[in-house]
Amino acid sequence: MSVQLPWVINDVQIYHKNKLVEVSIGFARGNEFSCPECGLACSVHDSVTHRWRYLDFFDYRCYLTMNVPRVRCEKHGVLTLKETPWGRMGSHYSFMVEHEIMKLSSEMSMSALSKHIGEPDSNLWRVFKYYVFNAVHNDLDLSMLRRVAVDEKPQKRGHIYVTIFSDLDTGNVINVTEGRKKEVFSEFRAWLPKHGGDPEVIELFSMDMSVSYKAGRAEYFKEADEVYDRFHIKKG
Ligand SMILES: [Zn+2]
Repeated sequence: MSVQLPWVINDVQIYHKNKLVEVSIGFARGNEFSCPECGLACSVHDSVTHRWRYLDFFDYRCYLTMNVPRVRCEKHGVLTLKETPWGRMGSHYSFMVEHEIMKLSSEMSMSALSKHIGEPDSNLWRVFKYYVFNAVHNDLDLSMLRRVAVDEKPQKRGHIYVTIFSDLDTGNVINVTEGRKKEVFSEFRAWLPKHGGDPEVIELFSMDMSVSYKAGRAEYFKEADEVYDRFHIKKG
């Protein structure tokens, strides 16, 4: 791990009994940081503390605790940086640990991964969803969405599933929702307007012949048709 100005290592503590390494990082005084909204260089107002799990150091668990600057922007007021070189705010894990989680999530189930790295699987799902969906689709515009493909994806060797909604006409994945019960359609319906989508204009769902998907479509998208073999659908 390399730490360069304006960042400085304040302290490193090694706890042999608990097999724990605690690294504390701060920033040098007098530095400016970019406003997370407009990118302008701003002076520091104060700071908040955030702690990330970092990659293990042999069999020692390693954590980074950082003083994260809050900048004062003339236009946007006082704002906390959205991320540092080691991790983003809103995550328990540093970027390198998140990268590891994403890599391993394609090789093992979330429950196996949870045991493997000793973190609750609800946290791991949050990371998974963030990278599969949020990070990629912040500027998603669903105003033209009419036809949706629905697929379930099992996590290998596990009993946890996600439901993947795609735009049938572009092939793009637009939403990943945990589970494969009919309620995923309710969540999808509630989520659409956040990205300019209109549940009332969805014309068709192409999906597996699953009882829960059929029930979900019937309950939450009453007006839409459903088909079970997308390869027979001609592009409109
Ligand atoms: Zn600003």
